[in-house]
Amino acid sequence: MSGPALDRPAPALRLGAGVLLKHAVNTAHLSDAPSKRMCTSNYKRDNCPQCGLLFSARNGKVGAHVIIIERERELWIVPLCADCNSEAKNVNQTGGRNTNAPFHLRTPVLAIRSLESPFI
Ligand SMILES: [Zn+2]
Repeated sequence: MSGPALDRPAPALRLGAGVLLKHAVNTAHLSDAPSKRMCTSNYKRDNCPQCGLLFSARNGKVGAHVIIIERERELWIVPLCADCNSEAKNVNQTGGRNTNAPFHLRTPVLAIRSLESPFI
């Protein structure tokens, strides 16, 4: 059997502070809502792990699609603020990846593997 296995949980990976990530683009169409919910509900801190600002009603916590630099052919989901996630959508892109600068995680997060990776 191949293809996305939606009847089993997506693999998770614990990332420490300092791990280098990059936003992915062209991923809004992916059916990752259950994984995004798992990702955001598991993150109990009040601050965005990218910019460090407090989550708020205006700038809430979302599940952002990212590439972990050391695993660059895989797509993961991590909790970030909506502003960080939206900003990343406005940059130029090449081959399904954007060209914005990589960023270091400020706090540890549990990353959830996307089951619909565009790289496979
Ligand atoms: Zn942020």
